[in-house]
Amino acid sequence: MIPGLEPVPLRELQALGTSKVWTVDGQLDEMPSLTPVRGTLKAEHLGNLLEVEGSVQTIVCLRCDRCLGRFNQQLNADSRELIWLGDEPSDDHLSEAGLDPTSPDGLMECLNPRGDFEPERWVFEQLSLQMSVVNRCGEHCPGLPQQASNPTAETNVDKAPDPRWQALKDLQTSMQRNGKHHD
Ligand SMILES: [Zn+2]
Repeated sequence: MIPGLEPVPLRELQALGTSKVWTVDGQLDEMPSLTPVRGTLKAEHLGNLLEVEGSVQTIVCLRCDRCLGRFNQQLNADSRELIWLGDEPSDDHLSEAGLDPTSPDGLMECLNPRGDFEPERWVFEQLSLQMSVVNRCGEHCPGLPQQASNPTAETNVDKAPDPRWQALKDLQTSMQRNGKHHD
């Protein structure tokens, strides 16, 4: 739990009449990180919308899916989001609020106006979005871990004499023999 990021009733944010600002500095229970999650977060009640803006950073330790080695990754979330306060908004509602329902950063979330805004959950969601689906330690990934002491058919082939070399050796031996004979 990050200190100071307790859920706030939306009505309290509305009564404030201005934006509320949080300083983020602490560990998220759902996302263990090497360094504390740090940054700022701001929320403003706009009637039927809540505007949330934040910038948070942290460093997490991940395991590479390929070489299984551990590596550190920095996560930077810089986001601004509009949350609809009420039931799922219709296109008409959005137009009334001066928003374009077809815009790509359209509304993704809605909250009950009588409910709470959870700043910590918001921070967690924004950082989670920065995580890649596949973890790769980087350009210098050594690749799949080597399986030691596992003799494969391939190594046996390498040790076996190549029949072509054997034929050449035989020829060489016979030529040497012939040469000696002539002396
Ligand atoms: Zn790797």
